[in-house]
Amino acid sequence: MVESEGRHARVMDLKNKKVLVVGMGRSGLAAAIFLRAQGAQVTVSDARSAEALAQEIPALLEHGIMVESGGHGLLTFRRQDLIVVSPGVPTDTPELKQVLSFGLPVIGELELASRHLQGQVLAITGSNGKTTTTSLVGRILEEGGLPTQVGGNIGLPVIALIASSTPATWNVLEVSSFQLETINDFHPRIAVVLNITPDHLDRHGSFENYVAAKERIFLNQTGGDMLVLNADDDAAHRCASHAKANVFWFSRKRAIRQGAFVYNEAIVFVAKEGAAMEPVLPLAEIPLRGAHNVENVLAAVCAARLAGVSAESVRRSVASFQAVEHRLEYVATVNGVDYFNDSKATNVDATAKAIAAFPGNIHLILGGKDKDSDYTQLATLLRERVKAVYTIGSAAEKIGHQLAGVVKIVSAQTLDEAVERASAAASPADVVLLAPACSSFDQFDNYEHRGRVFKQLVEQQQQQVRLR
Ligand code: ADP
Repeated sequence: MVESEGRHARVMDLKNKKVLVVGMGRSGLAAAIFLRAQGAQVTVSDARSAEALAQEIPALLEHGIMVESGGHGLLTFRRQDLIVVSPGVPTDTPELKQVLSFGLPVIGELELASRHLQGQVLAITGSNGKTTTTSLVGRILEEGGLPTQVGGNIGLPVIALIASSTPATWNVLEVSSFQLETINDFHPRIAVVLNITPDHLDRHGSFENYVAAKERIFLNQTGGDMLVLNADDDAAHRCASHAKANVFWFSRKRAIRQGAFVYNEAIVFVAKEGAAMEPVLPLAEIPLRGAHNVENVLAAVCAARLAGVSAESVRRSVASFQAVEHRLEYVATVNGVDYFNDSKATNVDATAKAIAAFPGNIHLILGGKDKDSDYTQLATLLRERVKAVYTIGSAAEKIGHQLAGVVKIVSAQTLDEAVERASAAASPADVVLLAPACSSFDQFDNYEHRGRVFKQLVEQQQQQVRLR
């Protein structure tokens, strides 16, 4: 982002600096408390009302942090030495645009934290699969004997990892395109870009902007660093031409000169062009469903081997890994029907991957809050594998309209009704799949809430069967 310090500026001296944190989210709060502990004069500003922030404000005041709620005053912005923005706050808000034009440094929590973090950074981004792959890599590194901590967009904010980091630590970080928009010096030793498919275009404006944000993960990498890219992803090839790091590829479809790929139904790794192919694990040992998870495992294998974990150890860790909650998570079998919760499928591509993970007989629950998506992209898969689509939420009408004539559509309105109707229609050996291709905010607090409600509804189905 726009910051005047040199590229190699590392640890910042924050004592008595005036710092404004914009956004009182989880990472904003952690950043404010960290900055205060470093001796900075901290103000936190949030557009939400004081009532909505009743929980957060007292804790901040107790730390000696000033608070502004119910909007951002332009003067609050002007008086600062540094501005730290939360990933939820768009950088093109009028206040931020104005301070940028004054030349004030604006960075995100990831940038701030990474300047104080000790050890190596292994950072993972992508449109889909970040949490799964980050959790898997964290697990492999830890079980491989490396001092490891996991955070970022998943679990703890990066700021919260600083105190426990040492020069030997591997910091495995899930990073989103929003976090990458506000980095300046962030410099991972190993960077992974899983895939780049249209998502969040409402916020990034265009696919080109979105790709450019993802590329920032390797912006500061140099020849000694490593970049892991998906050879089966078109946008990744465009990225590779901008990379300065040593590039390793992974592919489900073809042999790779340097990286990880599938060969004879097993995952193999080539450490360097011309080196021997080392077997890592048979595909049959991967406990996660779907071809997309093979991609996540390939990326994880590649990153973990580059971090120095042995192939045998990688194999053991992958084979015992469980799906992360709400990511194609098996819920239960009721009356011979399998229920899967993929509430985290909040875009069309993730939903396509979820459908493709089953050979057929799917009852698919689609809908929620639309993100300007094109649902017709699902048409072929729907025709091949889906018996009926149950639409819910504010996107229901658009989905029904776009998919008319492609597949049977049942307008269900709520998740409750969708589960009820899908369960009534499903026969033994069918699958009821929640993979809604939309965000959840019209009817739920977040995707976790939506996934939990789905699981409760499945439990109710189970109870009804028991009572019969
Ligand atoms: P993220 O953290 O990037 O959102 P998750 O691991 O939480 O990724 O998975 C998000 C959704 O995307 C889930 O619905 C999951 O089934 C699907 N998914 C996971 N990995 C991939 C992949 N490599 N490509 C496409 N979809 C994927």
